[in-house]
Amino acid sequence: MSTPVFRFAPSPNGYLHLGHALSALMNADMARAAGGRLLLRIEDIDESRCRPEYEQAILDDLAWLGIAWEQPVRRQGEHLADYCAALAQLAAQGLLYPSFESRADIAALVTERERHDTWPRDPDGAPLYPGSAGSMSPAERQRRLDAGEPYALRLDIAAAFACAGPISWTEEGQGLDGETGTVPADPGAWGDVVLARKDTPSSYHLSVVVDDAIQGVTHVVRGQDLFFATSVHRLLQTLLGLPPPTYHHHRLLLDSGGRKLSKSSRSTGLRELRAQGVTPADIRRMVGLS
Ligand code: GLU
Repeated sequence: MSTPVFRFAPSPNGYLHLGHALSALMNADMARAAGGRLLLRIEDIDESRCRPEYEQAILDDLAWLGIAWEQPVRRQGEHLADYCAALAQLAAQGLLYPSFESRADIAALVTERERHDTWPRDPDGAPLYPGSAGSMSPAERQRRLDAGEPYALRLDIAAAFACAGPISWTEEGQGLDGETGTVPADPGAWGDVVLARKDTPSSYHLSVVVDDAIQGVTHVVRGQDLFFATSVHRLLQTLLGLPPPTYHHHRLLLDSGGRKLSKSSRSTGLRELRAQGVTPADIRRMVGLS
C-alpha cells in the first residue's frame, strides 16, 4: 500500500487560532499514526486578503506547536498555470460561462427576486447566483469579453452534475448532522459557483482539488465548516479525472457565544496565548487532544 499523505492548508489572511491548532495537530497526529507524510500548503489565492507576514506567522506558530512538515511548502500563488490548465479542461467540456454582474448587481437581483419569494442560499448562507449569464447569446458574451468587462467564470452546476453522474465520498469523520461513511454529494446546493475571475484564474474550490491531486494527498482532514464544500470538490475531481482522497471533517471549536472561532478573535489566537506563557502541551489540552 502506498504511503498516506496528509496536508494542512491554511490561508495567510490572518493569524492562526485554536481551531487551526486542532486541525494542524490532528493532521500531524494522524500522519504519524499512519506512518504517512505531512504537507503544508499555503492557500494564498485571494491576494486582496493574504499577506506575507501572516504566512511567516503561520510557519512560526506551527513550528512552535512542534509540527514538522515536508519541504517544499506549496504556495498556490506560484502555481496559477496548474489551475488554468484545469479551467481549460472544464471549458473544453462546455461547463463554464462568464457572468458579468458586479457584487452589487447580484445583491440587487437577489433583492428583486426576494420580492416574490425566498431566494435559495448555499450551505454557507450566500444567495445562489441569481443572474442569467448562462443563457446569454454567444455573440453577446463575446462582445462583452472583447470589451474587456470584468467577469467571474462560473461552473454550470446542473450540466456538470449531469455530466458527472451520481457521486459520493468516503467520510471518516462526520458532518454537522452526523453524516459519515459513504456520503452522497449534493453540488447543486451551491448553484453556479465561481471557479475563477478575470484577474484571478482560480478560486478556493478549484485550487484545492487541483493541489490535492498534484500533491498526491490521500487524506483530507479539515473542519466541519468545509463538509458541504466537499460536494463541489468531488464534482470537480470527477470532471477533471482526479483521484478522490478520503475525507475526515472534524469538530469545530466554538467561542462562548457558540460561534466558530474567527481570525480576529484575540483571546484564542496562538500568538496571544504564546505571549501569555501558554505551552504547546497546554494548547493540545485546550483543543481537547490528549
Ligand atoms: N484554506 C482553507 C482554510 O484556511 C482550508 C482548505 C482545506 O483544508 O480544504 O479554511
